[in-house]
Amino acid sequence: MGFTGFLLWIFLCVIVAVIAKNRGRSSFPAFLISFAFSPLVGLIVVLVSSKNQARLDNRAVRAGKAKRCPRCAELVKPKALVCKHCGNNLPGEVKAVNLKPISNGRVYEADDFHKQ
Ligand SMILES: [Zn+2]
Repeated sequence: MGFTGFLLWIFLCVIVAVIAKNRGRSSFPAFLISFAFSPLVGLIVVLVSSKNQARLDNRAVRAGKAKRCPRCAELVKPKALVCKHCGNNLPGEVKAVNLKPISNGRVYEADDFHKQ
């Protein structure tokens, strides 16, 4: 195995490590197995092991790609106002009503809007 073959070997090991990471598994052990035995063996080990869904979910929440429903603990889209799993109303962004202060410092009351 020449130097080019060695680089190809390392490259394939890195690919297996990335696949492991994308499945919520640790990338370094996958790299070591691939390096010691063969990238093909590493790939088989990674694909046979189940996805670590809990880790993938936590990663999505940390990245802001999802939020967790406080009632059923399922993941929903960050901008969702209703949980698609249980129908729970989710705390979301409430657009502030544009209340302008008037001269004496008090703000418009709800009735003021109907008068305009
Ligand atoms: Zn829910």
